[in-house]
Amino acid sequence: MPEIAYEDLKKSNLPFMDGFEQAYREVAASGWYILGQQVKKFEDAFAAYCGVGHCVGVASGLDAIIISLKALGIEPGAEVIVPSNAYIASILGVINAGCVPVLAEPDPKTYNIDPDNLAKAITPKTKAILAVHMYGKMCNMSRIDQIAQSNGLKVIEDCAQAHGAIHKGKKAGNWSDIAAFSFYPTKNLGALGDGGAITTNDAELAKKIRFLRNYGSDIKYHNEYIGFNSRLDELQAAFLSHKLKSLDAINAYKRTLADIYNKELDPRFIKPVTEADNFDVFHIYNVRHPERDKLKEYLAQHGIKTETHYPIAPHHQNGYKHLWPGMQFPLSEEIHATTLSMPVSYCHTADEIRYVCKIANSFPLL
Ligand SMILES: *Cc1c(COP(=O)(O)O)cnc(C)c1O
Repeated sequence: MPEIAYEDLKKSNLPFMDGFEQAYREVAASGWYILGQQVKKFEDAFAAYCGVGHCVGVASGLDAIIISLKALGIEPGAEVIVPSNAYIASILGVINAGCVPVLAEPDPKTYNIDPDNLAKAITPKTKAILAVHMYGKMCNMSRIDQIAQSNGLKVIEDCAQAHGAIHKGKKAGNWSDIAAFSFYPTKNLGALGDGGAITTNDAELAKKIRFLRNYGSDIKYHNEYIGFNSRLDELQAAFLSHKLKSLDAINAYKRTLADIYNKELDPRFIKPVTEADNFDVFHIYNVRHPERDKLKEYLAQHGIKTETHYPIAPHHQNGYKHLWPGMQFPLSEEIHATTLSMPVSYCHTADEIRYVCKIANSFPLL
């Protein structure tokens, strides 16, 4: 019986090993380990990749969200609208910036925030929208930007799952006032440790972010803002520069695997829908099924590991539920109860994915 991991980072990173080793030798020999040429080189390359004016490296995706809100001048106590099915880091970023996360329900076909629900969640205290591109599929940014403009709101994209995804011809990170990326090892562009970045087309904003990530300082020991220690380090930047050259190939590969699922999986599994305006990069390929837990168990019995993104809705998380007392988010609950993430990594072969389809199709329930 084949053993199919959900993700095998050792295998996924194997094709990049020579470049990683060279990057390590260069950085170690340079004697310069924080905010040097490697970070600058990666920032320029990633800005060019996204088609955006500026990129600033930071320590993680979570920090990228916090620093984005701070850089935009969103005051503590302001309301920020977030999808009710977001990954907890999106919500935590809002909280750690001192703001109040207001949940709006997603569209259950795309898993992304529903612009109509978003519009309904706006109050006089709302200052910003955090548009989270879930699973590698971009939000309906054209409508979200319209709603933001007519209500005087800032827009932040959470692109942690959407490196290289496209909506209406424009890449993620290029639609809003500011965008947050994560390079956590499992992401489509993953480092060998933590890392993140912020992109923007606003030069002033980019300058402020450069201060904020480094103690609020540009010139050593001169502090213009209350800042953070949140720097992408030289070593991770060098690894990322090497891997960035293959990001399109990684995304294309994941899309090929997603295609196999789309074609071969039985229609009783609810599959992702790709809209005409979108190019999806399948950070996650999820299906929904009413007997999700039994399906997960069945696949496991056949050697296939799956994940659940995510098993518990944010408004049911012990540490967070007090933020939305008595509020109901039935769409988010439905997604959390039924979603299952299938293997869709650079480490998998097409034959392995066909095997996963064959076993899933033999699932006896429903
Ligand atoms: C991974 C992720 C983050 C957090 O990134 P870290 O680098 O782990 O801090 C934020 N938002 C979303 C949607 C993510 O998937």
